[in-house]
Amino acid sequence: MTPPSHLAYVPFISVENMMRLVHSIGIETMLKELADTIEHDFTRWPLFDKTPRIGSHSDVGVIELMPTSDGELYGFKYVNGHPKNTREGLQTVTAFGLLAEVSSGYPVLLSEMTVLTALRTAATSAMAARHLAPKGAHTMAMIGNGAQSEFQALAFKSVVGIDHVRLYDIDEAATRKCAANLAGRGLSVTPCTSSQEAMEGAEIVTTCTADKQLATILTDNMIGDGIHINAIGGDCPGKTELHRDILLRSDIFVEYPPQTRIEGEIQQMAEDHPVTELWQVITGQSEGRRSASQITLFDGVGFAIEDFSALKYVYERGLKTGHFQQLDMIADPDDPRDLFGMLTRAAEPA
Ligand code: NAD
Repeated sequence: MTPPSHLAYVPFISVENMMRLVHSIGIETMLKELADTIEHDFTRWPLFDKTPRIGSHSDVGVIELMPTSDGELYGFKYVNGHPKNTREGLQTVTAFGLLAEVSSGYPVLLSEMTVLTALRTAATSAMAARHLAPKGAHTMAMIGNGAQSEFQALAFKSVVGIDHVRLYDIDEAATRKCAANLAGRGLSVTPCTSSQEAMEGAEIVTTCTADKQLATILTDNMIGDGIHINAIGGDCPGKTELHRDILLRSDIFVEYPPQTRIEGEIQQMAEDHPVTELWQVITGQSEGRRSASQITLFDGVGFAIEDFSALKYVYERGLKTGHFQQLDMIADPDDPRDLFGMLTRAAEPA
């Protein structure tokens, strides 16, 4: 891909335009295409600059920067995680991100990433499940029915082929909202009154709850042989969802171990607890699911390469839909060394 040469104006995708873009592509098509784009970038894993994300923690949440580069493009995402926000009418997670060309350092895209993060998180989860979930899985339990939940359900439908979701949230209103949003989308939806009930008959369980503590959303007795666990809500130091005993029985798959050991479910385990890197499963260097009885756990915390892939997808695919604005974000003096002259001339009467 050749980025356009030095734009004075930077394409900007607002929330409104991101929503138009999703509708013009179709959400399930977009989730599938994002899963493929992320999977492709995972096959190029060694090429990327990698670092655990840089978090600024407070008592109530975290603000993070997530940078990476493949040598041609550079990307970063700004994202927060504040579980108490929904009680104040604000979202738990909001984000925006930027893509730049490495050769000049000039930005080529600025985008909202709150909607895009929900899409890329769901696409990553489903892409991982494509390699780890039991073959022919039909039913997914979904514990935590907040902002991410419908995206997860639809990604598992379009990428993995599930046709039934069983919902549970401690807040019934969240379950009602999720069930209503999923109505008419080709999934059968069963609201449940406990995690235990939601797990009945499920071959896959997704945990996407938000609580700033070491929580126990699932206990060991709830996990039967052969289950695939997609745990995405534990993504911060001191914030987990699974009982430690489940981890002892599972084969654990992660994005980038130096980040997951700080933020993921495996923060509960010894530093050398064995994990498999998902990219190595995708490239065939490591095994994914080996048997029908194996318990697989994708300890997903969200890694910068997934955001890079999502931004690149939007840049290559989304801009063609025309749903963007041009931002006057980069100073562009006629003489590149005369920035001051450009400023001075701006004060002159027209
Ligand atoms: P949200 O606040 O909109 O929804 C969370 C839901 O969890 C709420 O409805 C809440 O009632 C429910 N909940 C809390 N405790 C529960 C419990 N014990 N049992 C059942 N339900 C419970 O948050 P969201 O935007 O949907 O995000 C969910 C989680 O996913 C957050 O923790 C967020 O940080 C995380 N997340 C992870 C990734 C990733 O890449 N891994 C990406 C985005 C968000």
